[in-house]
Order: sequence, then structure tokens, then C-alpha cells
Amino acid sequence: MARYTGASCRQCRREGMKLFLKGDRCYTDKCAIVKRNYAPGQHGQGRKKLSNYGLQLREKQKVKRIYGVLETQFRNLYERAEKMSGKTGENLLCLLEERLDNVVFRMGLANSRKEARQLVTHAHFTLNGKKVDIPSLTVKVGDVIAVKETSKSSAKFKALVEANKVAPNWLDVNLEEMSAKVVALPTREDIDIEIAEHLIIELYSK
Ligand code: SF4
Repeated sequence: MARYTGASCRQCRREGMKLFLKGDRCYTDKCAIVKRNYAPGQHGQGRKKLSNYGLQLREKQKVKRIYGVLETQFRNLYERAEKMSGKTGENLLCLLEERLDNVVFRMGLANSRKEARQLVTHAHFTLNGKKVDIPSLTVKVGDVIAVKETSKSSAKFKALVEANKVAPNWLDVNLEEMSAKVVALPTREDIDIEIAEHLIIELYSK
């Protein structure tokens, strides 16, 4: 399974904004955007004004990086979004939001999407009572996601439960049980990230 293995903070610096890829560290002064808010590399501090194409490309890269998705998977989701009714851009973001690794992150059972992906890959979760290890699965209404019984005693999950993060309305989270039920699919309004999805659609429509 392909994944990006480079430095997370470099990705934020490239996009010129916090993408919150590292969990708690992102909220501290150690954040690279706080310390060095310019693009990485030799010419990072001499950035030029972006062309229209550049803006579209950067927006796509930003979304891919936030959700930790590589190009092929992103393109596949775009094609799926295109076939759905409604606005393709909104469908695309909702499909990303419905990914199992994102759901685990939104449940508050991982500090970042990257960590959620790793926890899912290491089979710490069940989906409707069955072991699952595919972070790219998309959930449906009625699905129940839970920490595997034998993983519930881990100090990691106990600390995350204590942090008691606020979950979105489309998930009915039971932190005591370390589980959540999908009570509705997310809508664009549920996605609290600044994204101009029309730029991605313009890019792919060329
Ligand atoms: Fe991005 Fe977090 Fe690194 Fe800051 S600490 S640059 S928000 S990944």
C-alpha cells in the first residue's frame, strides 16, 4: 500500500498553511509553520505569484495531504464523486471524510489522520464487529466502528479517551465503549477545513 513517507511539516510549509498532520505538536510553538512559514528548498523564500493552474494544483495537493491520499486514490475518488448526484467538489470532500481512517480521527481515537491510518492498518479496529485493516474503506450510515476488544486496555487509547475530543454530529460516539455509529453521512457543512474545491474540479476538468 503506497503512502507518503517524507516529512509532514515540509508538506505544510509547501502549502503555506497548517495542515495539522502531526496531532498535538501542531498546536504548539514547535510547529514548523510558526517557526519557518516559507516553502522548503533553496528557493522557498522567493516564491512568485501563482498562475491559475498553480492555484488549482496547490489546492488539490493541499487536500490530498490533509487526508493522506496519493494521486491514484484521489483520482479514483474524484471519478466516483463525478458519478454521484449533486456537486462533484462537495461529493469528493464527503467521500474523503467518509474514509475509515478519517472516521477514526474524527471519533477522537487518533491524534492525526496519519496516526489513525496506522492504527487501522495495525488492525486495532473493527467495522460492524469484524476485524478491519483497510484505511481507505468508506463507511455507510449504520456502520459501527470500534476499537478491538484486546486493544481497549492500551494506554494510547485510554489517553485519547481522556482527551475527550469533540466529534462531528454525523457520528454517535461512545468514548466509554471506544466506538461510534455513523448516524448520517457527512455534508459539506460538516467539513471544517478551508478548501476551495471548485479549483480541484477546474483542474481535473481540463
Ligand atoms: Fe504542519 Fe503540524 Fe508540522 Fe505544524 S507541526 S507544520 S501543522 S504538521
